[in-house]
Amino acid sequence: MAEVSGAVDDELYREILLDHYRHPRHRGEVEAPSATAHGHNPLCGDEVDVSLRLRDGELQQVAFQGQGCSISMASASMMAEEVEGRPLPEVHDLISRFRGLLVEGRDPAELGDLGDLEALSGVRKYLARVKCAMLPWVALEEGLSRAEGERG
Ligand code: ZN
Repeated sequence: MAEVSGAVDDELYREILLDHYRHPRHRGEVEAPSATAHGHNPLCGDEVDVSLRLRDGELQQVAFQGQGCSISMASASMMAEEVEGRPLPEVHDLISRFRGLLVEGRDPAELGDLGDLEALSGVRKYLARVKCAMLPWVALEEGLSRAEGERG
């Protein structure tokens, strides 16, 4: 049974990724951003620019643009969808849980609900793909630290 549900998950995950790749959410640039950050993954050639605006302790708006493989672009789209409108501590928590899933290889069951982001869990077997998936998140983190540094 486990094998069967695994195959179903893989298919579902593939569809979620393709949907975000073909119809990216939050693509573009935030107006009057608190910070921007650029990410580059030379291994794959992915480029991503993240712009964001903080307001009242929340990540009020976030957008990305760039070009790269389907994993990096789908990850950017999913990230923007998940983090926009969240209080900053929740955004940092989500970044850390996503990193736990992909980089640290932690059990998804102990990371709490990651929503559609779990669709990216399949890439953790491939180091080069992990870098693709993490690229927009690293840029987001850099942008946040710039924005929060200036504010503080
Ligand atoms: Zn890539």
